[in-house]
Parts: sequence; C-alpha cells; structure tokens
Amino acid sequence: MTQAALVLFSGGQDSTTCLAWALDRYEKVETVGFDYGQRHRIELDCRSTLRDGLKALKPEWADRLGDDHTISLAALGEISNTALTSDIKIEMEEGGLPNTFVPGRNLIFLTFAAALAYRRGLKHIVGGMCETDFSGYPDCRDDTVKALQVALNLGMERRFVLETPLMWIDKAETWRLAKASGGEGLVELIVEDSHTCYLGERGERHDWGYGCGTCPACDLRGKGFRRFVAEEAVTR
Ligand code: ZN
Repeated sequence: MTQAALVLFSGGQDSTTCLAWALDRYEKVETVGFDYGQRHRIELDCRSTLRDGLKALKPEWADRLGDDHTISLAALGEISNTALTSDIKIEMEEGGLPNTFVPGRNLIFLTFAAALAYRRGLKHIVGGMCETDFSGYPDCRDDTVKALQVALNLGMERRFVLETPLMWIDKAETWRLAKASGGEGLVELIVEDSHTCYLGERGERHDWGYGCGTCPACDLRGKGFRRFVAEEAVTR
C-alpha cells in the first residue's frame, strides 16, 4: 500500500515545515485547511502560493503533492469569542493562555482531518502541534494527541498514525528542519510566503518574514529565526 499522508496545512511557518517533512517521507501527500471565520484570512490565502513554491523546489515533491482540501468550520468561530475571530485585543488570560486560544481547536481539526483521511485512504495525519515553545495550549500536548489517536482509531476502526514532527523542537530548530528538508530555497519560501502574525499584518518585511513584529507569534518567529541564523553562522 502506498504510504500516504494528510497534512494539516494552515499556511504558517510550522505547517509549511510539516508539509515539506511529509513530502520527504510519503509517496502521496494531501493537504487540508480549516476555515472557521478567522479574523484574518491571510494564512489561508498563502496556502496555494506555498504549495506551488514547494512543487517548484523538488521534482519529487511535485509528483507527491496531491489534492488540497478546505473544510469550513464556521461553527467553531461561532462558539469561540476570541481575539482570532472577533475584533478584540490579544492578551493573556488567567492560567497563562492567550485569549487567542480556541478551546479544543486541535481536537476538532484532527477529528475532521481523520474523517477526511478515512475517505481518502490516508494513514498518516501530520500536524504542527508543539509542546516546546509556546503558550501551553493543552490541545497541543503530546499526551493529548496520543490520546486522540487512540480514540480515533477505536471510533473509526482504522490504524491512523498522528505525526507531530515539531512536538519537541523549538522555533530555531523548526527553521533548521526546513533547511535540512528543502535547503535555502525552502527557508526563503517560508520567509517570503508563509504567514504567522496574529494581527494579520503583512506590511513590513523583516528578515524572518512579514508581520507586525510585536504580537506573540511574530515575537516567537523572529527570535527563533535570529537564533537559527546565529547558530548557522557558528557551524559554518
Ligand atoms: Zn504579529
């Protein structure tokens, strides 16, 4: 059987790196994006540019990259009154989570992805969840993902494997993983065409890409990129 994967692909740095990782490993790779009424549609709009860019980087990636799917999850926007979906300021809430947190978002994404993977005959489901770097989203925890894998396999009578290549690495290492996979060309593609900023800003071009430069997502991406560049310089 063909080793085939479905990648949760938002158009951000992490999911683009995960897509390259999957294209190196699986003979057939499809992508899925979720539209849940995000305040900023820029990430979703970046997706086709990034897919085309990846296909241009390596001939085997062009052969392997298959269909792209978009699933509308408007209901998720309706039940989550957070800074991503409403016009309110991003801030930290009690418990250390930013108010951008959509409760259980990744559980919902992975469950829909599994339903799609079932229909498409794809065994591996790849997501950019990460425990190392960020805001303590409980649905990004390794244990959460492993528990969900068990639940999905029981509930759908399948042997899905939920893959999270970024789970234990930080943002600098994520840039390094991109470089190892697709060279400078992939690093440049991610800098130029992926989107991370919470505020949806695309105006100013920093060395790490476009964004407001100050929101938590820009801050993390910028710091990670600068550490990656500094460490590259040391090892050369
Ligand atoms: Zn920003």
